[in-house]
Amino acid sequence: MKNKLLKFTNQYLEGVMALIFPHFCVVCGHELNQKREHFCFLCEEDLHFTYFEKYPDYTVADQVFWGRLKIENVYALLYYEEKTSTRKILHHIKYNEGKELAHFMGIMMAKKLKSNPKYADIEVLIPVPIHSKKKFSRGYNQSLLIAQGVSEELGIPILDVLYRKTHDKSQTRKSKDERYKNVKGKFALKKGALIGIKHVMIIDDVLTTGSTLEFASRAIYEGCGDVKVSLGTVAVAH
Ligand SMILES: [Zn+2]
Repeated sequence: MKNKLLKFTNQYLEGVMALIFPHFCVVCGHELNQKREHFCFLCEEDLHFTYFEKYPDYTVADQVFWGRLKIENVYALLYYEEKTSTRKILHHIKYNEGKELAHFMGIMMAKKLKSNPKYADIEVLIPVPIHSKKKFSRGYNQSLLIAQGVSEELGIPILDVLYRKTHDKSQTRKSKDERYKNVKGKFALKKGALIGIKHVMIIDDVLTTGSTLEFASRAIYEGCGDVKVSLGTVAVAH
């Protein structure tokens, strides 16, 4: 009797919560029941997973950095293409107050990372920083929130030790060359930040040209020569 009452009360409360705080699938927009987070069952099943965690050697994400600098492993959870669910997810994370979604995608990424031992010796996560002006307008750094999800699931700490030297204007409307110039040399590592650390993973939302992640990695190598750098992103353009 007590259990039945509890079940009834829970269902009642869930119903009330759904009325007060309805939540919707990020991809298709349908209302979700209270047990689902961010995606309905069908859209979650249909996400464009890369399955890079199952690749024995290199992936298209690793190839982005070939001939540029040494990166240990490059992981991306989803493929990014125009008109796909991935685009909606990234847009939501960046522009629609997507704090919880960023965290959720970090957890999803970490669950995949866990399944491949090549990620097992990563000791710390380093989010790509955004400039304080952008942080002020958006209110949060999406890379840090993704990293928090990864950190929670893998049980490894975040070191927020990269910083941007100067403000750069929004990258969105610039050509590849302009973007490259715009971020060149604009990161630095806090002094002494990685003493004794052997393997780090830099976290960002999306890998496109790789210029931001290249220069973030360079800043780490320059500040701390003897370290392996891996990269983890929610999506990779291909
Ligand atoms: Zn959906």
